Amino acid sequence: MTNSLVVGNWKMHGSRPECSDLARSIVQSLHETTPASVEVAIAPPYTALAAVKEILKESDVRLGAQNCHWQDRGAFTGEVSPSMLKEIGCDYVILGHSERRHILGESDRMIAQKISAALRNGLRAILCLGETLRERRAGRTAAVVSRQLRIALKDLGKAAIHDIEIAYEPVWAIGTGQNATSEQISRVHNQIRNFLVKSFGAGKGNNVRILYGGSVKADNAAVLMSTPQVNGLLVGGASLNPDAFLQIVRSVTKQ
Ligand code: PEP
Repeated sequence: MTNSLVVGNWKMHGSRPECSDLARSIVQSLHETTPASVEVAIAPPYTALAAVKEILKESDVRLGAQNCHWQDRGAFTGEVSPSMLKEIGCDYVILGHSERRHILGESDRMIAQKISAALRNGLRAILCLGETLRERRAGRTAAVVSRQLRIALKDLGKAAIHDIEIAYEPVWAIGTGQNATSEQISRVHNQIRNFLVKSFGAGKGNNVRILYGGSVKADNAAVLMSTPQVNGLLVGGASLNPDAFLQIVRSVTKQ
């Protein structure tokens, strides 16, 4: 396993100057304290990507986007292609986030196509998946996660898994203040790990980082990171506060 990964998903928050200020604070504080064992990425809105890239240039913090289309160009009004993200300097793209699946109607198939397109363009893809509260209550968590994984990854050659991170984000934990328990997380992360090993072989499958996301805060990050098979964190709300984000990164460092 390589380094742990902490990703800040800023969602649709921040003007360009606000995002630049936030990026600057993060870079400055991480510069002083982050050891090489933790990789940090931030994913601002599209409109701030170029400005934030300028700030990250001299740092180890990586740039991520929150979505992309599955074609490199074409008549897709309002969409942004993976090659455009690469051109602007993105390293990562978050795909299949629950807000895109459930509010914007993205299907498993669309997400699969986006993953292939991202990889084809030299981006690393962070595949988000997870069950809704209704699905959990109906005892369908494992079936939902299995379907999301299978469809998202089925077109990929074995080598391609090297460029993917998986983020388990139970929908009911996102932005609610109610994180999943260590037991709930390790059950799903073990399922994901077993799937990866079976599909891509032990060498490759054991090397994929599996992140947890859903109400990660400064005061629960250490416990979440100490959960077996958690190799990093995807952070929404708390990543908008540089002090909280720094504390989360520090908790990951201590593991
Ligand atoms: C997310 O949006 O990916 C997320 C995990 O949000 P939050 O940390 O706010 O729950």
